[in-house]
Amino acid sequence: MSGTGLVFHEHFLLHDAGMSVVGSPPEPYPYLEPEAHVEHPRRVGRIKELLDHTGVTERLEALPFGPATLEDVALFHTPEHIQNVLALSASGDGYSDAGEGARLSRGSFEVALLAVGGACAAVDAVLEGQVDNSYALIRPPGHHAVARQGMGFCLFGNVAIAVKRALSRGTAERVMVLDWDVHHGNGTQEAFYDDDRVLMVSLHQEGLYPENSGLVEETGGEGGAGRTVNVPLPAGTGDAGYMATLERVVFPIARQFNPDLIVVSNGLDASRSDPLGRMVITAGGYRRMTRATMNLAEELCNGRLAIIHEGGYSQSYAPVCGLAIIEELLGIDSGVADNLGGQARADRLRPSYEVGLDVERALAEVVAAQSAHWELEPA
Ligand SMILES: [Zn+2]
Repeated sequence: MSGTGLVFHEHFLLHDAGMSVVGSPPEPYPYLEPEAHVEHPRRVGRIKELLDHTGVTERLEALPFGPATLEDVALFHTPEHIQNVLALSASGDGYSDAGEGARLSRGSFEVALLAVGGACAAVDAVLEGQVDNSYALIRPPGHHAVARQGMGFCLFGNVAIAVKRALSRGTAERVMVLDWDVHHGNGTQEAFYDDDRVLMVSLHQEGLYPENSGLVEETGGEGGAGRTVNVPLPAGTGDAGYMATLERVVFPIARQFNPDLIVVSNGLDASRSDPLGRMVITAGGYRRMTRATMNLAEELCNGRLAIIHEGGYSQSYAPVCGLAIIEELLGIDSGVADNLGGQARADRLRPSYEVGLDVERALAEVVAAQSAHWELEPA
């Protein structure tokens, strides 16, 4: 079989993080009426609806999958963390946290296991040649979760577990993870910091969540020297800056590493309308980044590419970006992203076509930090 696989299940809409107030509240509190938590079920529901309405869903291969086993989750997480999520989820006692900012409620454990299982299925389908590439439209997201706790809306490390599982089964030997969520992929980094079989590249807005994480000088630990590549980028980097980052820094390193599988941690929170990020990538920019990564996968590993959903909090624009990415995997363009009328005209942002001097400086710092491990042109 060939084509593009899709992982989706309506149960992904059942994990409920409740209501929230923006910012850490000082007294008197609240100043503002609480609103729905940004990690809302509609994040994936709206993307699925857009895929349905544009006829894209029927062109995708629906990949069968089920919840991950506890043994698979334990490839990364401590038994204490797994038991904690299970117990909090089973208590049915309102909302609780399985770590810093990892809110959950009744039944979240089962949804989180299904998300891990979905990521594993998307990776396996590509490795087994069932499909050319795949997209896992899952939640809760995973890339912040560390071994001993959840963090930043993430309960279990979906990508970390799927990759560890493939390595332990011997279906992959060298994996590149490309994390372009606007936040640092600290959990995935932790999972592979000392592992020379995994190249973990994170592009993220500098100074965002988690604090003091994803710095240029974090390049891998003992046994994994140079296998961690952090690219903190300035606010407003935009389409042109992201493409320059991929072409000048990320892809040259990837070619030297030579993976047999590429897994993208796809955060749509680097989009130009995200409430949490300020990186102004347009839907067209996400499309170009996807195409470039597909070309890289074609060049290095028979096109084997699995894209796993992470963040992305604009209820109106993230779905358009998600559609653009999945269409590009299929090699089609419905034109929806280019037909947003006045919005498309508003997208004529300078960072869409020009690489800023602050981006140039950021790339030069990455080249300097990585030059001991990789041959790179001066940025
Ligand atoms: Zn994020």
